[in-house]
Amino acid sequence: MTINVAVIGAGPSGFYTVDALLKGEKDVRVDIIERLPTPFGLIRGGVAPDHQTTKKVARVYEKTALTDGVGYFGNVEVGRDVTIAELQEIYDAIVLAVGAPTDRKLGIPGDDKIGVYGSADFVGWYNGHPDFTDLDPDLNTQTVVVIGNGNVAVDIARVLVKTPEEMTETDLADHAADTIDASPIKDVYMVGRRGPIEAKFTNVELREMGKLEDCQPVIDPAQLPDEVEGDWSDRDRRLKERNLATMKEFPDVDPSGMSKRCHFTFYAKPVEVLGGDKVEGVRMEHTRVEDGRSVGTGEFFEIPCGLLIPAIGYFSAPFPGVPFDVDNGVVVHDDGRVGDGVYAVGWIKRGPTGVIGTNKPDGDTAATQIFEDIEDGTKPGREALETLLEERSVRTLSYADWQAIDAAEVAAAKPGAPRRKFVNVDEMIAVLD
Ligand code: NAP
Repeated sequence: MTINVAVIGAGPSGFYTVDALLKGEKDVRVDIIERLPTPFGLIRGGVAPDHQTTKKVARVYEKTALTDGVGYFGNVEVGRDVTIAELQEIYDAIVLAVGAPTDRKLGIPGDDKIGVYGSADFVGWYNGHPDFTDLDPDLNTQTVVVIGNGNVAVDIARVLVKTPEEMTETDLADHAADTIDASPIKDVYMVGRRGPIEAKFTNVELREMGKLEDCQPVIDPAQLPDEVEGDWSDRDRRLKERNLATMKEFPDVDPSGMSKRCHFTFYAKPVEVLGGDKVEGVRMEHTRVEDGRSVGTGEFFEIPCGLLIPAIGYFSAPFPGVPFDVDNGVVVHDDGRVGDGVYAVGWIKRGPTGVIGTNKPDGDTAATQIFEDIEDGTKPGREALETLLEERSVRTLSYADWQAIDAAEVAAAKPGAPRRKFVNVDEMIAVLD
């Protein structure tokens, strides 16, 4: 009998799982259940709008979605429209591929002031994610501080300082483009609590910061060591040497004609957000690295700013009906097996690290486990879910519905842009009505 599988979440980890299931030796029928009307998770809502090449991987996912045996239930939220317990009655296996949609908190005094936005919210806002369309950040400030030295921090800094011309061929949401273009931002500080060698950004992303039209990368050469020291794997050492070489070139960038600066500031950690209701600055403590960890020196300084964006990593929220490991921000699982026919892949399993392709092995593992654990399908699958959602009058979107939304976005694109994103669910559904 066919094994009926529900994959919750239409992001990379979900699609790699579907693909692995289809390639397996058993007969499967897979339904993707997605909370938003739009698929592709972080490809649409997380990957920077000016990184369109990265987003092309969605074409591979589209092929998977259109394969015989694959169903798509968009605009269906597990926990609101249907419970995990109900899905367990309907499907032989359920795969959680819901990612890590919330922000890790700074946890310092003042981090709840107006003008402090976590990276998940801020990136979601400029990417037109319906959850964050109304964030409405006040960008009427000359100085922004981004905390963190990961790729998300670099993405945010870059999107804030690129010129409108540099953003022409992007799908930056209209509301974000208008707000960023009107803002008087001149200085973006990207602050790492450790040093340039420990920074997590990758070299392609770092190099882009030295090639911007209107933004000079500013770095204190005294913070750059002569060479990469420390106990690194050969691969990591090579990556770090490349980053160090790139950073050493930054002081050579000719600043003439440039109106903005991105300051790469290392060895500093935030200790307090300053201001009244609204952020007016951030108090930082100088640090040094001991045994790979950042340790405060007891010396402090302040950076006045009107916007503070901690880009210090994402966090998974507890998923309704599934045991959750609050300390580590992942579901409780044994190599992806959650129990009772439930499996986990991607960031809800591993935590928020790795690039898009890192999710592929998770999908392979989940498919292997499902085929090991389930000899034969016994559950009714798709038709039973359709009936239940119809009874509840849930407006379910098919993959063809998403293709119609996609076509409408592409048709509405400004010259050079790949699409003009709809930024709320009603707008998306209106296309279909
Ligand atoms: P990340 O790579 O883990 O970087 C988080 C940064 O925040 C690190 O510099 C970390 O410092 C710092 N940090 C954490 N807690 C902090 C605190 N309390 N105070 C100050 N700093 C703190 O996370 P991410 O940038 O969110 O990226 C998530 C994943 O997505 C990464 O694997 C990334 O490579 C990937 N990604 C890739 C791309 C791309 O390929 N273009 C784009 C975006 C994201 P420590 O190192 O000291 O912990």
